[in-house]
Amino acid sequence: MENQQLKKAGLKVTLPRVKILQILESSEDRHLSAEDVYKLLLEAGDDVGLATVYRVLTQFESAGLVTRHNFEGGHSVFEIDDGEHHDHMVNVDDGTVIEFFSEEIEELQHKIAKKHGVEIVDHSLVLYVKNKK
Ligand SMILES: [Zn+2]
Repeated sequence: MENQQLKKAGLKVTLPRVKILQILESSEDRHLSAEDVYKLLLEAGDDVGLATVYRVLTQFESAGLVTRHNFEGGHSVFEIDDGEHHDHMVNVDDGTVIEFFSEEIEELQHKIAKKHGVEIVDHSLVLYVKNKK
């Protein structure tokens, strides 16, 4: 399955690429940093260097397989690009990323853009949150 996805994205099938794609697809957490991917590979007994992980993730991003989010606080994560739009909350206490989608917010954004005589091409909304005391 991974082989076909790589070919479809115009990438040659190599072992590190297949392994990293598998990690991204099978992880419970949809949002992983390069270090997270590296650690998961180590746990799975796969010897792929961190530099390779960075390189492959960047290639995946260029090929449209994954999206990179550069969250504030030096928190960069990657997720499989499934073509579905969603927004994010980043927990500043522990770095957890929560996905959400709100029809109301989407509509409101279009209304606001319209009011300014423009239309939305793309948007990303990130809420920085912390655990409620
Ligand atoms: Zn996401």
